[in-house]
Amino acid sequence: MHGWNQEHCSINQHNGLDIIRNSGSSVYAMVSGKITDYDPDTHSLTIISSKKVDLWYDKERKVKILYSNVKLKSGLNNGDIVSAGEKIGTSTSDRNCFTTKNEKAVYDYVHVQVYISYDWNSYEMADPRLLINY
Ligand SMILES: [Zn+2]
Repeated sequence: MHGWNQEHCSINQHNGLDIIRNSGSSVYAMVSGKITDYDPDTHSLTIISSKKVDLWYDKERKVKILYSNVKLKSGLNNGDIVSAGEKIGTSTSDRNCFTTKNEKAVYDYVHVQVYISYDWNSYEMADPRLLINY
């Protein structure tokens, strides 16, 4: 697991969490919401929460989650609604660093980036671990 704000890929600030997976592992929606911005080239997509989410330190926040290295499940498309826990696709080994686009990583890994809205208009980036129950 590559952590929030740890340096890698010569990017000083890493705004997400990289989770190493077995090849072609299932990836699940962290929140219920709408799929947007799926890009089949980079295998990134965003889910915008349709319901307010309770975080362990705060209640009723709107959340947006960006995933990279996820090949969307066939039948799913931009604009579709998924439920929390629903399978959205499978992991890939794309290595989407700015300088090494289209190279493959040694392992599959899924990049997860979390945005939380505190005023219902704008989003701020947050540590994805806020949404994971230990
Ligand atoms: Zn990453």
